[in-house]
Amino acid sequence: MEYIAISLPEIMEHREKRTMRTAELIRKHQSTVVCMSMNFIGEYKVLKHSRLIFNMFCEKVLRSTQVRFHEVEYSTFGDYAHFVCEENPEAVKAKMCKLEESCEVGRLFDIDVYYGMENDSPAKISREGLRKCLICDKPAIECSRSRAHGIEAVRSHSIDIMKRHLATLISECAYDSLISEVETTPKPGLVDKNNNGSHTDMNINSFYASSLAIKPFYYDMALETFKSFDNNLSIFELMRRLQAIGRAAETAMMSATIGINTQLGAIYTIGLLSCGVVMSLEHSQCFDAIPNYAQSLVLSVKVGDIPSFGARFEAENAFPNILATTRRIQILNNEHNFNNSCVFALLEIMLLIDDTNVLRRGGESGLIFVREQAKRILEFNYSNEMLKAVLDFDNEMIRRNLSPGGCADILAAAIFMLNIKQRIFEYGYTQK
Ligand SMILES: [Zn+2]
Repeated sequence: MEYIAISLPEIMEHREKRTMRTAELIRKHQSTVVCMSMNFIGEYKVLKHSRLIFNMFCEKVLRSTQVRFHEVEYSTFGDYAHFVCEENPEAVKAKMCKLEESCEVGRLFDIDVYYGMENDSPAKISREGLRKCLICDKPAIECSRSRAHGIEAVRSHSIDIMKRHLATLISECAYDSLISEVETTPKPGLVDKNNNGSHTDMNINSFYASSLAIKPFYYDMALETFKSFDNNLSIFELMRRLQAIGRAAETAMMSATIGINTQLGAIYTIGLLSCGVVMSLEHSQCFDAIPNYAQSLVLSVKVGDIPSFGARFEAENAFPNILATTRRIQILNNEHNFNNSCVFALLEIMLLIDDTNVLRRGGESGLIFVREQAKRILEFNYSNEMLKAVLDFDNEMIRRNLSPGGCADILAAAIFMLNIKQRIFEYGYTQK
């Protein structure tokens, strides 16, 4: 994506064109018309990550009010979108103000609402109260008139706001995937809504507590990765900093669960993938590039040729089982509800990996047992009998004191990747 400097006459011409289109839509539809654009001062009207966030906000507008017609204009002179709405202009204006104020990044948007014409121009519904400046808390109009902050400072502040927004989204995807994983029920031998599986020292509340405790550290890891691009850090140096954040996350998890390791694997794997997401966004790459970027982090600190197992093996090999599981959940979810898709996917993971948790508690024979059971149940071919068989499998796992925690980590990470795909990458960079 190219970022091109625009001259003042070009800006004026573009604005005129936009206003003419607003007027056309008002005349044609005789209804409330919304015009949304991003408000960047200076000669760059499209900034890094702005188109992605613009697309996300288009979706928010579409979800917040009934829209009869909408169109989006992508341009280096500034992206904008028109929405012809069914509701009355005051109701739409109230909703658009709420959107602008719903999160920090909303401050970068101008969502204007028009109804009818006035002196041959679209009549704008005015907002209540003044918008605040991005940098200080004074009214925005005051700072822009006095040019209080300088174009460069405002621009870099705007980009930082977008990065914080993306880091927040990533940490929300991570948190939601941890909750989805633990709530997936039934899960043989694992903590779920039915029981504590083969665990006596933790229950579902331990997972709720630790998920909440580690959520901010996914944000920190994502933001640190953004910063590494600003500061031209090497992958190795970035990884060192991420490891420190990971250790802090572990401490927070231990303190939330009073000393129980609930999600150490998830801190590591989903943490790496979170940073992979940022690296992919910074390089303007697609969803498929995430695993390789995350892999490059792990390889940067790998010493010698020591063979690896479990989560580390997965990371060093660009997360093959996690990606396979992401695809399987998506396919299964076409025919089954999300919970059952995850239950079935978990059984399939048992066939894919040597779960180190199962090995530790049950040895080789434990691993063989888990495999045989998963294989037998999968022969029910995703019918309702399958869920009943999983309940029996759960009881047998508890009796044998086996817990496939490694499989659960793969499931959580696969759900994370699905969340990232749906909530970030489907909004794409590439639309022109
Ligand atoms: Zn200010």
